[in-house]
Amino acid sequence: MTATNDLETLMTARAREFATASHGAFIGGSHIAPDGPAIADVDPSTGAVITQIADSGAEIVDAAVRSAAQAFEGDWGAMLPGQREAALHRLADLVEQHAAELAEYDALEGGKPVSYVEAVDLPLAVEQFRYYAGWPTKLTGSVVPVDTPDSHVYTRRTPLGVVAAVTPWNFPLCQAAIKLAPALAAGNTVVLKPSELTSLSALRLAELAMEAGLPPGTVNVVTGSGATTGDALISHPQVAKISFTGSEKVGRQLGGRAGEALKHISLELGGKNPNVVFADADIAKAAAAAATTAYFYSGQVCFSGSRLMVQRPVLDEVLDEVRRHAEALVIGPGLDRASTMGPLASSGHRDKVEGYLETVTGTGARVAFGGSRVPGTGFFLEPTAVVGPADSDPVVTDEIFGPVLVVQPFDTVDEVLPRANDTRYGLTAGVWTSDVRKAHAFSQRLQAGLVWVNTYADYNAAAAFGGFKSSGFGKDCGPEGLEKYLQTQTIWMSLS
Ligand code: NAD
Repeated sequence: MTATNDLETLMTARAREFATASHGAFIGGSHIAPDGPAIADVDPSTGAVITQIADSGAEIVDAAVRSAAQAFEGDWGAMLPGQREAALHRLADLVEQHAAELAEYDALEGGKPVSYVEAVDLPLAVEQFRYYAGWPTKLTGSVVPVDTPDSHVYTRRTPLGVVAAVTPWNFPLCQAAIKLAPALAAGNTVVLKPSELTSLSALRLAELAMEAGLPPGTVNVVTGSGATTGDALISHPQVAKISFTGSEKVGRQLGGRAGEALKHISLELGGKNPNVVFADADIAKAAAAAATTAYFYSGQVCFSGSRLMVQRPVLDEVLDEVRRHAEALVIGPGLDRASTMGPLASSGHRDKVEGYLETVTGTGARVAFGGSRVPGTGFFLEPTAVVGPADSDPVVTDEIFGPVLVVQPFDTVDEVLPRANDTRYGLTAGVWTSDVRKAHAFSQRLQAGLVWVNTYADYNAAAAFGGFKSSGFGKDCGPEGLEKYLQTQTIWMSLS
């Protein structure tokens, strides 16, 4: 592993200059000079402070929401559907043109291997803008056949107003795109609050949105902590809708707050996703995918297949193969092109992940490999597998959000199905089998919003993504992703 994340050699001058400047909010088409409390922006690959990010207070948040409200009533609201489509396509093109630069920000602040960010996150972000750019001209209502004579009744699909978009740190640019693209396509304006750990790509994206011709105020960014900036944003009376992606814990709080204020809310939360390998599966393929999904972005992925359930006859074979893949990972700083696994996002988060490993002691389970810190100042943890914990152990029930794969054997379909469903989460699941009937029957009975069969982690802007149960409600992607940013208005006209 290389010891440094040397910004001089690993970053382009343009990206380095932007990354190391102090940042405040982006409101009404302009950056606001930071003034007041700030948060240190830390590089998790080294522990070094990159810059300071404003912890925006209620006044700044109010200015951002007012700016968004003005654009909603004004220039963005007045744009014709075709003009909105064209603007979103231009934004997609600009993100594509600046992909390398944007990837540097997410690799630096999130510690994600830059080559993966370029190969995975950036195309997904572009795809969101391209997919939803097609929608503004297709948002039709209907004519309603009522029983009242001489009436003309029709419905219109209308935007909600100002959307407060609150995003997590694990897919900074992607999550911003996943929120902005459908919200804007539906005709809303947005105040985006990125995670305080990863603000840079959202701020740069807001600049690109202006360059694409979106009117000032259509996309605003407020940087800062959840307690200060996030709280002020979701409580603002002019926010019509909260679109939240993050932890179950914060999602529950925001759900309660939205209920009290009667604001629309959608919640994309965490998961502890069962990935079930039957003995009749293509074992090499299943094991390779199991390792990839467990350790991709150090396991800091909501849909990580972090609970691997393997039919007993192939347990050792699968585990050996997973270990082989884990040993081949190149652990290193996010900006280093050789890295295939980066650090955890913060020192505190690594402590939390390690804490789970301590709970394994005494349950009869064993740490099959990994479990140690990687020497150095960054927040690295080895790829780890815990074999055989009880279903009630915290490593099995909780979303660890780290490179810790839990491996559990099972014997029969009837045994594994209730065990896989006995979780408060329901985001995603995987099924590996060569038996088509079993594949259909089993996947349909899994309580998960997305089930992958003989594959894992495929994602596309056209296919609905979102959880059941405590993994939240309101889908991303597809027509469903647009639906949550729209409301229906009925016009009832008397013709007599
Ligand atoms: P988090 O809940 O700690 O923070 C998410 C965002 O909420 C951040 O911007 C944070 O500042 C903000 N926030 C925190 N407290 C707030 C408050 N009181 N009011 C308003 N905003 C507040 O989550 P995280 O640690 O950043 O991200 C990891 C979590 O996100 C994991 O649970 C992961 O599964 C989940 N996630 C889910 C999806 C999905 O699509 N389902 C995608 C990515 C991540």
